[in-house]
Amino acid sequence: MSTAPSPQSPTVTAELAVRGTAVLEQGLVPEALVLIAGGDILWAGPAAHAPRHEAQRTLVHDGLILPGLVDLHCHGGGGASFPDAATAEDMRIAVREHRRHGTTSLVASLVTADAATLRSRVAELVQLAADGEIAAIHLEGPFLSVERRGAQNPEHLTAGDAELVRELARLAGGALATMTVAPEVRGADEVIEALAEAGAVPSLGHTDGTSAQMTHAVGHARDSLRRAHGRSALPTATHLFNGMRPIHHRDPGPALAALDAAARGELVVEVIADGVHLDARTVAHVFAIAAEQNVVLVTDAMAAAGMPEGQYRLGALDVTVAAGVATLTGASAIAGGTAHLLDVVRFAVTEAGVDLVRAVRAASSVPAAVLGMQDRIGVLATGRRADAVLVDSELAPVTVLRAGTVVTD
Ligand SMILES: [Zn+2]
Repeated sequence: MSTAPSPQSPTVTAELAVRGTAVLEQGLVPEALVLIAGGDILWAGPAAHAPRHEAQRTLVHDGLILPGLVDLHCHGGGGASFPDAATAEDMRIAVREHRRHGTTSLVASLVTADAATLRSRVAELVQLAADGEIAAIHLEGPFLSVERRGAQNPEHLTAGDAELVRELARLAGGALATMTVAPEVRGADEVIEALAEAGAVPSLGHTDGTSAQMTHAVGHARDSLRRAHGRSALPTATHLFNGMRPIHHRDPGPALAALDAAARGELVVEVIADGVHLDARTVAHVFAIAAEQNVVLVTDAMAAAGMPEGQYRLGALDVTVAAGVATLTGASAIAGGTAHLLDVVRFAVTEAGVDLVRAVRAASSVPAAVLGMQDRIGVLATGRRADAVLVDSELAPVTVLRAGTVVTD
């Protein structure tokens, strides 16, 4: 059936038309067209089905047009980090580093610290969220396992404190999106409830708990989220496998329970597919097992993303970056990632063999849904903010659009 516009149909006036092969809601669309005006997408689809339109400017792209990427777990980049930046201007360095590489929406992650530090960091980040620079805030700690702390400062790890959650959520004024909590810490259930009531998503991780404890926490988080009608009905798992007791057949631990829940569509698992945190085959297995909407690709990036090797900070701890791997100085624990989210998508596709469209969705529409922002970001479709990353055949960024504007710095 022809959908060619009739001579009577009104003309759509776009400021920018982008043409090329695109990842749209319906999948990979060759000869696609995206019409943009006022920072939003007016229309996206196969060019042959486009409404009658005129565009002030047309960009014909040779590679792929992807939706702007959404990173749920990012501590920094470009030499700056959210837990350590002295000023909001410093924090913007990290935001811009990732934005130039295609991450048009970023959740700023803090690390474990004392309550006073968390309060002041959250207050800084609220300003960044109000300015539209970051999408939301993620708190990684302090209610985490000492045994599975990774690069979290053990000095400030504590039992669950629902009152602190409520206080930080109030300070965040709706910008608190997720918080990592270990299911086995004392008071974890109350923390999960307080997060859901505050409109935030409990993210289960940095855990030495059992399979049963993880399964209980997933169920409790789902019940709490359902009651609260928050951003998302589903909890997440913080970087599946990393910062978790490994799977053993006589001691399955939390990771297998998390995967099981993701397969049933009850949990969204974060995966750091950067070639350092997980083997490519592990990434492939996770995508094979988890339901379509239940894997999200993240960077867990720290200050060294996009920077040379050397010495960096993550919260109160020193980090050494060598051969692209960040570890606590003088120790073996991995201390965050150094990749951009587009690098993670590339690794998932080229090394782990994940279907391109699925990998792109795991870094765009799926995280957008976790944030409850799927009507605004994460998809190239009518009414969404005009965020796109135009990549070459190697999935390297060529042009990034954010709210219809080419990102230049
Ligand atoms: Zn992290």
